[in-house]
Amino acid sequence: FNVPIAVNEPVKSYAPGSPEREEVLKAYKDMYNSTVDVGMYINGKEVKTGNTRTMSPPHDHKHVVGTYHLAEKTHVEEAIATALEARKTWSQLPWEQRAGIFLKAAELIAGPYRAKINAATMIAQSKNIYQAEIDSACELIDFLRFNVQFMSDIYMDQPESTSGAWNRVEYRPLEGFTYAVTPFNFTAIAGNLPSCMALMGNVVVWKPSNNQIFSAKVIMDVFKEAGVPDGVINVVFGNPGMITDTVLASPDFSGLHYTGSTPVFQSLWKQIGNNIEKYKTYPRIVGETGGKDFIVAHKSANPKQVATAISRGAFEFQGQKCSAASRGYIPSNLWEEVKKYVIEDIESFKMGSPENMDNFITAVINEASFDKLAKYIDQAKADTDAEIIIGGNYNKSEGYFIEPTVIVTTNPKYTTMVEELFGPVMTIYVYDADDYSNTLKLVDSTSEYALTGAILATCRYAIEEATNALQNSAGNFYINDKPTGAVVGQQPFGGARASGTNDKAGSAQNLLRWVSPRLIKETF
Ligand code: GLU
Repeated sequence: FNVPIAVNEPVKSYAPGSPEREEVLKAYKDMYNSTVDVGMYINGKEVKTGNTRTMSPPHDHKHVVGTYHLAEKTHVEEAIATALEARKTWSQLPWEQRAGIFLKAAELIAGPYRAKINAATMIAQSKNIYQAEIDSACELIDFLRFNVQFMSDIYMDQPESTSGAWNRVEYRPLEGFTYAVTPFNFTAIAGNLPSCMALMGNVVVWKPSNNQIFSAKVIMDVFKEAGVPDGVINVVFGNPGMITDTVLASPDFSGLHYTGSTPVFQSLWKQIGNNIEKYKTYPRIVGETGGKDFIVAHKSANPKQVATAISRGAFEFQGQKCSAASRGYIPSNLWEEVKKYVIEDIESFKMGSPENMDNFITAVINEASFDKLAKYIDQAKADTDAEIIIGGNYNKSEGYFIEPTVIVTTNPKYTTMVEELFGPVMTIYVYDADDYSNTLKLVDSTSEYALTGAILATCRYAIEEATNALQNSAGNFYINDKPTGAVVGQQPFGGARASGTNDKAGSAQNLLRWVSPRLIKETF
């Protein structure tokens, strides 16, 4: 098929004095100083129930930037009914029409909506402009563009035929409707999960995180302007338990596309299992969940490179990435130097509101996250087998600010070496530099998760040994790099074990989960 060759959207620099910097700052101020009342989108109409909650930026939690309306059960049922109605035409639409709509959405974000979606992400998720640009502009644009290319690759994959018998596969959408449950941490993921299912001809009920509605609203506007027909993607907000119960009770439920916490994913899976006899078709279940992502350095590694992998991998985006490095294994011969560089790096990070573009670290998403992180930090202060070498302060008087914190432990199974914290806290275990092989075993056996990990070494044998020993420990494995920052079309992203079903985001493999192929054999 002749589809546009997908190219990654270049990241803009937002240099001081540049027009794009002025534009995004203006959008930020405008959105910050007005209030928006966000309704749900059901059948293309904004639905306001009057049962509202306020939205506030995590870095300035007393300031209100708007309200959103919560669904009743009947709204969720309406969203399902509407989706099923829309399916009748959407699933029959030539694929070029669907592709055209989502390519248009990509160009709307690349152009007229770029400043707005970035500003909304800065406000809703406290991302600085560079983080917002990488996430809500570039990564979302890339998902939309590359998915069209992956879709065309899938459709091209056809069986052999003979002159008397023509075999062909129709990659039909799933029968029924699909359910997208998206996290706060990436606007790109919020946009990708519903849109990639819709691109393949499915209809969707989408529940964004209540912490991300402010920026989800911009995605909804983009989809509408791009021409997604009424009813194809319906958005509902509110009580996650009620929404999920209603969706999963429908016999027409046919697929879950989820990114979020491991316990919630597991409970959804159980619920689907309990309902299995009700469904018309076995639902597809795709999930990307938690992580306890590692950095292992070998004694041959370059200490400066190890320190950069730690400070960037653990603290960019406030550590609120499933992929963020949160446990490090550093050999004793390198530790003093690595420590010096890590401290130097972190001391150079400025913390504060994302409006000030010099701030590298901003606030964590909400009070629950702040309190949880503060508790782990306090525990580390009290424990004799842990020491905080930098950071350790926190303050929620205005915003949910946690200093980037490095804990060093003498216990390789220390709580923060094992549990997912999802914030700017990294724990390091210094191992005997001559005990590399056992350390790799420790890395593999310490965590139930297997999302990302990195090995830093200059010795090729050490790289080879880690690559083999850690085969099942990370779905995305990085050699001499930080374990974060997967780029669509270059590093398809996902993990196994408790980290998810490993149906890589940004891949044909993921899109294939949203089709139910029909083989047609025609003889002549
Ligand atoms: N894809 C992102 C990365 O490689 C992480 C996405 C997530 O946090 O779920 O860093």
